Amino acid sequence: MDATGTANVINGKELARELTEELKDEEKPLSKKTGIPRGLPVVLVGVAPASKVYVRNKTLACEKAGIRSFKRELPANGPTERLLGIIEELNASKEVHGILVQLPLPPQIDEQAVIEAIDPGKDVDGFHPYNMGRLMTGNPLLTPCTPPGIMRMLHSAGIEVSGKEAVIVGRSNIVGKPMAMMLLKRNATVTVCHSKTQDLPGHVRSADIVVAAVGRPAFVKGDWIKKGAAVIDVGVNRTKDGRLTGDVDFIEASRRASFITTVPGGVGPMTIAMLLKNTVEAAKRT
Ligand code: NDP
Repeated sequence: MDATGTANVINGKELARELTEELKDEEKPLSKKTGIPRGLPVVLVGVAPASKVYVRNKTLACEKAGIRSFKRELPANGPTERLLGIIEELNASKEVHGILVQLPLPPQIDEQAVIEAIDPGKDVDGFHPYNMGRLMTGNPLLTPCTPPGIMRMLHSAGIEVSGKEAVIVGRSNIVGKPMAMMLLKRNATVTVCHSKTQDLPGHVRSADIVVAAVGRPAFVKGDWIKKGAAVIDVGVNRTKDGRLTGDVDFIEASRRASFITTVPGGVGPMTIAMLLKNTVEAAKRT
């Protein structure tokens, strides 16, 4: 916290830019050695407008890191088998190093079957049970992208994790659960809260590190934040006037926190940078 009681902002956009530059340097000799540029296809099924924005951001970030990104688009009403056929083809391709299926999928598609069909070595989203299991046992291979981005933000800000109380609000497979595993591996004492948690404010008030991944604007109130805590806002919500906002009441929380992230410009760009990192890591093993 600075002298005026305003938290220091951890700049995810800048950190992501640095990471992308590092990846570019790693990627060049890899492509030169194999003669094949890294390839990250994005499989889209009946694209929702929100997904289009994510996909555009991912494609741009890939270009910056020297990774070839391309789209495979399917109509919204197709069967699971058609998507599984495409995944089989991408699993077998030597030009494909990571496979990204944009979620959520339309309701008629068996999402779990699709996730499990992806070769775990190309599973750059880290959602395959094999990769989830490795994370759980403390021996990760490819992990979901948001939590390692957050770990890197904490590290860059010099925030000690070991021995600290960490409270995560949200228990999704994408954010909450893998975040818990990573903080635990780094010796934090971790509490995972969810919609059935009793006395959520009380839990958050005990936290040295708060990770909010709920999907509700300004859900985490400023007076829940312990003085000097680090507050990481994962939420991405759109306000009525079209602005993006997080899950934390930023103004109030930044009066009590020592470090805080913004939305946009915080966790989001780091998630994309970690996706590229996973692609380069996956390519190293092929
Ligand atoms: P999910 O909808 O899968 O999970 C939301 C979690 O919040 C659930 O565990 C739910 O509990 C919990 N929750 C809902 N209401 C309450 C409540 N009243 N009190 C306590 N907990 C509650 O969301 P995701 O994890 O996928 O995403 C969360 C947010 O993060 C979204 O805004 C999403 O857009 C954003 N996001 C941002 C990313 C980035 O890179 N910046 C990446 C991924 C997500 P329960 O399990 O009991 O239902």
